[in-house]
Amino acid sequence: MLLSFLEMLDMHVHLIGHNNPQEATRDTIREYLEEASRRGLKEIGFADHDYFWDQMNFPMIREVAEEYPNLAVRIGLEAEYRPYEEERIKHLIEQFPFDYVIGSVHEFDGWIFDIQEEEHMHHKKDADEFYGRYFEVVTLAAKSGLFTTIGHLDLIKLFGVRPKKDILTLADQALTTIAERGLILEVNTNGRYKPVAEFYPERRLIEEIMRRGIEFTLGSDAHCAKVVGRDLEEVSQLLRQIGVHSVVGFSKLEKIRYKLV
Ligand SMILES: [Zn+2]
Ligand SMILES: [Zn+2]
Repeated sequence: MLLSFLEMLDMHVHLIGHNNPQEATRDTIREYLEEASRRGLKEIGFADHDYFWDQMNFPMIREVAEEYPNLAVRIGLEAEYRPYEEERIKHLIEQFPFDYVIGSVHEFDGWIFDIQEEEHMHHKKDADEFYGRYFEVVTLAAKSGLFTTIGHLDLIKLFGVRPKKDILTLADQALTTIAERGLILEVNTNGRYKPVAEFYPERRLIEEIMRRGIEFTLGSDAHCAKVVGRDLEEVSQLLRQIGVHSVVGFSKLEKIRYKLV
C-alpha cells in the first residue's frame, strides 16, 4: 500500500474521558495500544488533561506498554494554560519525568469557550476581538517555557465563527514566539468532528508554520480507543505534499524525528 512507508505517530491521546473520568484500567490501556498497533503507529503518547491528575496512573501505563515492544509508548500531559497559573503547572510537571507537555488554551478571561453551552456566545461576541485575545494567551503559553508543544493552535474556530481580520495576522505573534522557542505544533484531527469541520490548524496556517520552519507533531485528541490515529494518515500525506519531511515525537523531552518520505 502506498502509505505504508509513512511513519505514524499519535501524540495527543486521552485515556481519561470527559464524561466518565474513572481511573483507566489495564484493559482500557490495552484497547488503545491494540488500536495503535492495528493502525501501524510507531509511537503513541498519552496526554491526559491536568485536571484529572488524581486519576492518572503512569506506572500502570508503563507496565502495559511492555506487552507492546514494537510501539513506543510515551507519557505526556495536556496542561490547561492560564497566565496566572504558571506556578501550578510548573509544580505538576515536576512531579513526573514526562516525555512531553502540551500547553493548551481552552479558556481565557474566565470564558471557557470550547464547550457546547458557549456556542451562542461565539456568534454574539466580536470575532476579531476574541480571536485576538485567544492568540495573545497562546503567545503567553509559548513564552512560559513550560511546554514542548502547543495544542490545537486555532481551537478558537471550533464553532465555525471566523474573524474578519486575516488569521495569519492574528496568529503572527504566537507563531513568532513558537518559532523562537523551538516549540512544536500539532496537526490535531479532532476539529473535523466539531462544527468547523476542519483540522486544527487550518491549511493556510499549516503552510505558514512550515514556511517559518516550525516542526509538526500529529494528534487525534482521541478520548476513546477507537479514535486513536484517526485521519493521521491523511494528515501525513497532506504534510508531505506541502513539503514537510518529518514529524516529531518525544522521549524525555527530547525530539525524535519520523520521516514522512
Ligand atoms: Zn485540548
Ligand atoms: Zn486533548
